[in-house]
Amino acid sequence: MNVILLGAPGAGKGTQAEIISSCFHIPVVSTGNMLREAVKDGTPLGLKAKSFMDAGDLVPDAVLVGMIQERLQQSDCKNGFILDGFPRTVPQAEALDNMGVKIDHVLEIHVPDERIVERMSGRRVCEKCGASYHIQYRPPAQSGVCDVDGGKLVQRVDDAPETVKVRLGVYHKQTEPLKDYYAKQKKLSIVEGQEKIVDTTHLTLQALEG
Ligand code: ADP
Repeated sequence: MNVILLGAPGAGKGTQAEIISSCFHIPVVSTGNMLREAVKDGTPLGLKAKSFMDAGDLVPDAVLVGMIQERLQQSDCKNGFILDGFPRTVPQAEALDNMGVKIDHVLEIHVPDERIVERMSGRRVCEKCGASYHIQYRPPAQSGVCDVDGGKLVQRVDDAPETVKVRLGVYHKQTEPLKDYYAKQKKLSIVEGQEKIVDTTHLTLQALEG
């Protein structure tokens, strides 16, 4: 099963992606996490991506397409995958189609803008493994410490309120047109993001199984 998750930054894609991943035993391919890893490691790709990411802009399509093509060829993706953060533009979606990758479901997790800014202020990520938490909605067992590997939880540079506004603008302009793109292919389902994570999960699984 090959799934794409769409949704504004902070809509809860990463959280739902991890849950779907453990239910269906397929990996999450998160371009945001892959890029942050590359930035941390100081690879040429990371150096190229950093300034775009810190400003809340998209990294150029060509960089992402190459990166995703390589990732999807790895053996753990052969029974399926969940794409979180890719595609984010129509040219990226076209590139995916041109690679011959078959997509079964596209889910948009919909959350109104006003709730996004509030949610992002409480988001924390593990600086080691990228696992995502929320100080109110999804707190770690021990404050400031990752449940998975004990890494330190930090706020992402691009989660600053001003940058969140830029990212929302980018989402509406560049990523939202993908809803039409996949609706035309009859693959799109829309899930209303709920206050509680489990309630969103319920709707997400329903949409995947429906
Ligand atoms: P978000 O919380 O906005 O969904 P991500 O962790 O998915 O954040 O991505 C963080 C940043 O990484 C984006 O703001 C963008 O700069 C870059 N990025 C991630 N995926 C893509 C992509 N498919 N195309 C272009 N840039 C991307």
